[in-house]
Amino acid sequence: MFEAADMFRIFAKYRGNAVVVPGRGTRHWLKASVTPSRDIPLGDPAMGGHASFAFGLALAQPKERIVLFDSEGDLLMNMGALATIAEAAPANFYHFLMDNECYATTGGQPVPNATNVRYADVAKGMGYQRVYFFDQLEDFANSVESILKEPGPVFVHMKIVPEIENLPINQRPRVNPRTLDQVIAEVKRELKVTR
Ligand SMILES: [Mg+2]
Repeated sequence: MFEAADMFRIFAKYRGNAVVVPGRGTRHWLKASVTPSRDIPLGDPAMGGHASFAFGLALAQPKERIVLFDSEGDLLMNMGALATIAEAAPANFYHFLMDNECYATTGGQPVPNATNVRYADVAKGMGYQRVYFFDQLEDFANSVESILKEPGPVFVHMKIVPEIENLPINQRPRVNPRTLDQVIAEVKRELKVTR
């Protein structure tokens, strides 16, 4: 397992101009990102929704590289999205999975079969052609640049140290200084979306 903050610091070096949907890694990603106009922190949308959102964005913006940081708890609630994504096979879609083996944002309850599910194998079986698994930071650091040069869809399963939150959600400090409306307006400007 490795720390999300370390992973994001390394990923940031190779991000280029990709549009990043940081999901449950938003707190760390916003500290590492130097291009916030190309970040889409959604806050905490409907659980499981990150993958479908980012997939739709990849279809709508085929000239942009879209990088999603999904979580295993989310993916378990929306596993069918993998088949949909694999069928459409957007070449600009990079699906990173942060697997901390628990529902960290609701107090750390274990996800089903937490230590055993091989999500990269699941993605492969669903039809992703390129899948990876990392549980060591050094291996991730040595591979991420080349992974981001491959055609998507790529799936990257990472074992991430859990950071369990126990405060009630409405008492937690605000992570993103921008509102969701501001985030959407800014990224639409950046991507020249007029609708
Ligand atoms: Mg989790």
